[in-house]
Amino acid sequence: MAGHDHEHEEDDEHEHELEHEEDEAQEAERVARKRIALAQIRQYGDPVLRMSAGEVEAFDEELSRVAERMTSLMHDADGVGLAATQVGILRRFFVFNHGGIDRVLVNPVITRRAGEVEIEDEGCLSLGSVRVPVERHLEVTIEAKDAAGEDVKLELEGMPARVAQHEVDHLDGVLIIDRTDPASRKEAMAQLRPRLLLASR
Ligand SMILES: [Zn+2]
Repeated sequence: MAGHDHEHEEDDEHEHELEHEEDEAQEAERVARKRIALAQIRQYGDPVLRMSAGEVEAFDEELSRVAERMTSLMHDADGVGLAATQVGILRRFFVFNHGGIDRVLVNPVITRRAGEVEIEDEGCLSLGSVRVPVERHLEVTIEAKDAAGEDVKLELEGMPARVAQHEVDHLDGVLIIDRTDPASRKEAMAQLRPRLLLASR
């Protein structure tokens, strides 16, 4: 059955090629999705990013629907958190991925900040490729409601604590460039200024 084996080898090779093509197609799709998602997220220069959001009063279907859409946008954009202000909604809620679980936190309040403060580089889906060092508390307690209006209380540590502090900042119109050191801010602004010119056209 030598002929058969030979054919089999060719099949394998062909399969590898196909797999490779599939990987490439998947990668191209991922990149396209990311680009589409980012195009739907407000970018630096948009005044809405500097505004303070108001409390959510109605825990209705609209809220759940928007939160779901924001969760998909966050994943498509390769992000770990997304605040309502970043999609132009001036209401106090954000979505984030907490240890593999997608959560919606509505009217969130950080009720406890503890542990050390730690400086780490942060990026933001509204600031392109800018990454700046930001000081955050290592531990926070955050109290909020979920999309159905039920009480949620989370004790967060490390990365999720950092994300929560970043997202709550968004609801107050505060960005990472406001929280970094002057030299890093200057560098970030040099990267962001051309976008400002484009945005004002
Ligand atoms: Zn952000």
